[in-house]
Amino acid sequence: MIKAIMFDTRQYDAEFFISECGRNSIKLKTIEAKLNEDTVELANGYECVIVFVNDDVNKAVIERLVAGGTKLIALRCAGFNNVDVKAAFGKIHIVRVPAYSPEAVAEHAMAMLLTSVRKIHKSFNRTRDFNFSLNGLVGFNLHGKTAGIVGTGKIGRCFIDICRGFGMRVIAYDPYPDISAEIEYVTLETLFRESDVISLHCPLTKDTKHLINEKSIRSMKDGVIIVNTSRGALIESEALIEGIKKKKIGGACLDVYEEESDLFFEDLSGEIVNDDVMARLLTLPNVIVTSHQGFLTDEALSNIASVTVRNIIRFFSDGVAENEICYLCENMNECRVDRKKRCF
Ligand code: NAD
Repeated sequence: MIKAIMFDTRQYDAEFFISECGRNSIKLKTIEAKLNEDTVELANGYECVIVFVNDDVNKAVIERLVAGGTKLIALRCAGFNNVDVKAAFGKIHIVRVPAYSPEAVAEHAMAMLLTSVRKIHKSFNRTRDFNFSLNGLVGFNLHGKTAGIVGTGKIGRCFIDICRGFGMRVIAYDPYPDISAEIEYVTLETLFRESDVISLHCPLTKDTKHLINEKSIRSMKDGVIIVNTSRGALIESEALIEGIKKKKIGGACLDVYEEESDLFFEDLSGEIVNDDVMARLLTLPNVIVTSHQGFLTDEALSNIASVTVRNIIRFFSDGVAENEICYLCENMNECRVDRKKRCF
């Protein structure tokens, strides 16, 4: 029996994991606490820890996991910017779920975009109050507008298809363009200059941190709508707020937020929230915030649980880590893994 502990567990993902682990030989302990330096001791004696986007898997945490006997960090997500992959190399293996439902995230991005441009969030509140006035609800057509997609991986591609279905012109930027795909690639500068909607679908790296900043916002079209379902730190929040106040930015749809780990996934409705930036964002009528909800569909949750459990079983039973990542994997030429073995 493999012993695994799952941090930051919520009722909606526990259901899927408990049933999936039960069908396989994994003895699962679920806890609500996030993994960080204060909680890492809870993993002592567990061969595997299952973590999510806001668990803080830094160098100190990794060292204590190793000391406590943990052999595998199983991410139940695709992004791994919250893990110090360099510190883990040679000490503890990391597997992830590279794709569980890119459609789920892309559809959420479009749901937010439509909500923003047709002001559905406002009309929903108004009609609840029997206010059937249309004043202030004028939106604009997506048809004929230009969508700028940053990152044309799995989710970016799905979002491109959806935008095309709406009759939008699509342009894209990706440092690794897929030349076989029928995508009009442009420079980032051109994308900022020409897009009516900018949607972010690239990973958070040192190159992409604060990609949306005061300077890039200045180069955008007036009234641009920014959609971020990727990672919060792609956007410099203060610059975004300034851009909205100056009416340069027409709307922001944020499923992720730079400081989300202290807020998202928690019910803080009865608390005084100590985050002035989020407080300011939430006062702006053209900002829509969802709390990292893009993945939250039955299909995605089911895939996440089954791929995570398969990753764990294969690692411990067959010695294979097909979805392993290491710091060398970011440059595929350097990582020697052939996808049938482990990275080290
Ligand atoms: P992916 O790896 O398939 O695609 C990422 C793309 O970004 C690749 O084509 C890559 O070449 C490109 N890229 C790399 N560096 C770039 C740069 N500097 N500028 C522009 N593009 C760059 O990943 P994916 O599955 O499409 O996921 C995209 C992001 O979505 C993930 O990194 C993750 O952060 C986020 N995500 C969010 C949710 C959610 O619930 N909101 C769920 C899953 C993933």
